[in-house]
Amino acid sequence: MTATPLSLPVPPPKGPEFGAGALIVCESLVRIYQTGSIEVQALQGLDLIVESGEMVAVVGASGSGKSTLLSILSGIDAPTAGRARVDKWDLLAMSRADRVRYRRHAVGFVRQQTSANLVPYLTAREMVDLPMVAARVPARRRRERSRELLDALGVGACADRRPAQLSGGQQQRVAIAVALANEPQVLFADEPTGELDTATSAEVFGALRDVNRRLGVTIVVVTHDPGVSGQVERTVAIRDGRTSSEVLRRTATADNGDEHVIAEEYAVMDRAGRVQIPRDYREALALTRRVRLALEPDHVTIRPDA
Ligand code: ADP
Ligand code: MG
Repeated sequence: MTATPLSLPVPPPKGPEFGAGALIVCESLVRIYQTGSIEVQALQGLDLIVESGEMVAVVGASGSGKSTLLSILSGIDAPTAGRARVDKWDLLAMSRADRVRYRRHAVGFVRQQTSANLVPYLTAREMVDLPMVAARVPARRRRERSRELLDALGVGACADRRPAQLSGGQQQRVAIAVALANEPQVLFADEPTGELDTATSAEVFGALRDVNRRLGVTIVVVTHDPGVSGQVERTVAIRDGRTSSEVLRRTATADNGDEHVIAEEYAVMDRAGRVQIPRDYREALALTRRVRLALEPDHVTIRPDA
């Protein structure tokens, strides 16, 4: 007699490809770090879709996997399993040469530590120039581009200064200009305002929004600053290496003409239909292991099993 397997594999979902048409697609993304005999699951089946032209904030507690996600998406780290695609690039099946091309042309990356983004002995102009030299952009075009970018980020007057002669906010603006040098479609920023005071942080965030709107660059920015994440249309929350909820914001106009922002929180459903019910909801209704689901004409109810 053969034993019945206890857990059956989830059948592959039918219908169009998950995230078809989106610029960034992560599906069941897993990243396991192995240090000696200790295994850390930094990403545990994360799903994420970002459309071209969006600016999305990623929030989550420390250790929830935000930096891991960004280093995978920017081609610095490779996932253990799952699917990750940015534009035409499959991040799980990239050759070494493709990875270099991808990092050089397709994406830009800004780190939290202002110092990690910049070279101490180069001027702002030289730093923006560097990625273009690597990409063999002609000198004349490089000069134009660095001037345009530094101006666009409000640091045109700092072109001949070295990092030590720049404020923290100016350093991060220069870092954004460097990341945009080779005209990437996407900019990833990992807590770019983490080391800045509130006012400077708002300024740098404003610069990112400007880049998104004026240059059309898609932006994924990790932040734990609620004031900052409140300024984007979509915030994705990561918990324990998975996307758990999303907040969408839109501007509505009241009858008297006043504009106000409406924020709505959504739970995220994965491809197998799993949804996380927030802890306070579970506690309020004493929802434990089993719940009753019922399909209504336009919604689904969840009731305690009593
Ligand atoms: P966040 O950016 O949200 O704070 P991280 O992505 O940095 O989270 O980390 C997620 C988890 O993975 C944490 O438990 C962290 O300790 C672990 N981790 C991150 N990078 C490594 C690494 N290189 N080696 C081992 N564990 C790591
Ligand atoms: Mg981090």
